[in-house]
Amino acid sequence: MGIRENLSDVLERIDAAARRSGRKGSDITLVAVSKTVEPALMLEAADAGARVFGENRVREAEEKKAMQWPDGVSWHMIGHLQRNKAKTAAGIFDMIQSVDGIELARHIDRHAGALGKAMPVLLEINMGSEESKTGFAPDNIFGAADEIAALGNIRVEGLMAIPPYCENPEDARPYFRRLARLRDELEQRGYGFGKLSMGMSHDFEAAIEEGATIVRVGTAIFGERNRR
Ligand SMILES: *Cc1c(COP(=O)(O)O)cnc(C)c1O
Repeated sequence: MGIRENLSDVLERIDAAARRSGRKGSDITLVAVSKTVEPALMLEAADAGARVFGENRVREAEEKKAMQWPDGVSWHMIGHLQRNKAKTAAGIFDMIQSVDGIELARHIDRHAGALGKAMPVLLEINMGSEESKTGFAPDNIFGAADEIAALGNIRVEGLMAIPPYCENPEDARPYFRRLARLRDELEQRGYGFGKLSMGMSHDFEAAIEEGATIVRVGTAIFGERNRR
């Protein structure tokens, strides 16, 4: 199948899963994960209606963003961000989904401030406490959220997670549910943020059923990635 067909298939599945959770497909933001993907293929996706690209490397995103894109295309950082790239990242991204530490948040805040903007971010949670992944431990998020919310040039809009890989998406469901509950607990503490970025190609339907408002889908749109 081509990219246009893949995209419309993913959008239909998003719509169906949203309805199962009492919402509409338009309530869910699809991030087309375009890391390693050639710009020509991304343009096909944009022409077919994709409006948010997810990248995990600053340099790659910077080069791609400088090309010609339809109006309204936006760029989300979804990979681990090194502090020394925070300045460039603050300049090019419309959202940084992968804020995984307080020091990084401070760096983004400082550079966003210098650019006169408030950077929308999500706080990344390491749901499975995996050593191979960065992110806040679920138990530490309350103190971290207090500190990061106090920064003036960052707007915390919600939580993001990449749960441990599960062959069967049903096995990822408890992680999705736990992340949704964490978001609810933060809301009860007075945080007005509601975004939940969870779910990838093989499990986005389960994630939506558990409350995802943003899904990050690469392979199901663009096909298998080349390994770097
Ligand atoms: C690569 C990546 C995705 C997309 O994964 P697919 O399985 O190709 O859909 C989603 N989120 C993050 C953080 C990624 O790095």
